[in-house]
Amino acid sequence: MTSYKELGLVNTREMFKKAVAGGYAIPAFNFNTLEQMQAIVQAAVETKSPVIMQVSKGARNYANGTILRYMAQGAVEYAKELGCENPQIVLHLDHGDSFELCKDCIDNGFSSVMFDGSSLPYEENIRITKQVVEYAHAHDVTVEAELGVLAGVEDEVQAEKSHYTKPEEVIDFATRSGCDSLAISIGTSHGAYKFTPEQCTRDPKTGRLVPPPLAFDILHEIEKKLPGFPIVLHGSSSVPQEEVDTINAHGGKLPDAVGIPEEQLREASKSAVCKINIDSDSRLAMTAAIRKHFDEKPGDFDPRQYLKPARENMKKMYIHKIVEVLGSNNKL
Ligand SMILES: [Zn+2]
Repeated sequence: MTSYKELGLVNTREMFKKAVAGGYAIPAFNFNTLEQMQAIVQAAVETKSPVIMQVSKGARNYANGTILRYMAQGAVEYAKELGCENPQIVLHLDHGDSFELCKDCIDNGFSSVMFDGSSLPYEENIRITKQVVEYAHAHDVTVEAELGVLAGVEDEVQAEKSHYTKPEEVIDFATRSGCDSLAISIGTSHGAYKFTPEQCTRDPKTGRLVPPPLAFDILHEIEKKLPGFPIVLHGSSSVPQEEVDTINAHGGKLPDAVGIPEEQLREASKSAVCKINIDSDSRLAMTAAIRKHFDEKPGDFDPRQYLKPARENMKKMYIHKIVEVLGSNNKL
């Protein structure tokens, strides 16, 4: 048993309270490589932002749970080395799909876990979420639950169609499950292809796809039912078109990739939405830099030669999100 407190990590409780009161959101960046971790920590330290480093089941299988735990501990120590006296770093399990997986993470240094029972029948979702909450709270770990289904693909999480969260269910769900925060479905979606071209309109000037707007009416109804309760948005990458263009210009093939416009995420950050999940944008930033490098310097074969610009490009993206979209800078 390794407590996250021994690793210098924090849970989300105080972080979310301040974010809801302050009208900003905490960035939740997925990671599974050294370069992503370094870029996340550098960006958080430079902008003085709290940060959630999150790991999906797929990332845990890819990188190994023990290694990721020590990377999170390394992130805290690295932040201090970079001059941050009191880093606020959470190690979070993204989309836990069973009590056993959540328990295993809690026993191995995670400070926050998500149990995603959104595909289960309502009562079953409450029952297992509550079981996770009881175990987690006994170890001062916070729990994110999910109600409503997001469309798209994220590692093993997959759904054909989204089902918006029903505002009339949130009070009952949050009260009976005891969760600390709630992921809701209001039109965000996993992956780099969040919407089909048929769901979008086209900007006549640029020819780019414009996705349908998020359901802010549902968000506001949920806020009214659960005032001040921390709300989470998954699948909130913006799929920056300049990165997609770079990838496509250097041998890639990502036709019609489309994300959530940043101005909508900016608006959501000011509400009870206090955690915004960003994964695809980091993948795109990394891939764009590497493709460009290989195209321009075909003789390079030292991984540091192409991973360094990849790390720089991810860091630039993380800083942009923190400062220009979520507003979590200068909050340490
Ligand atoms: Zn997700």
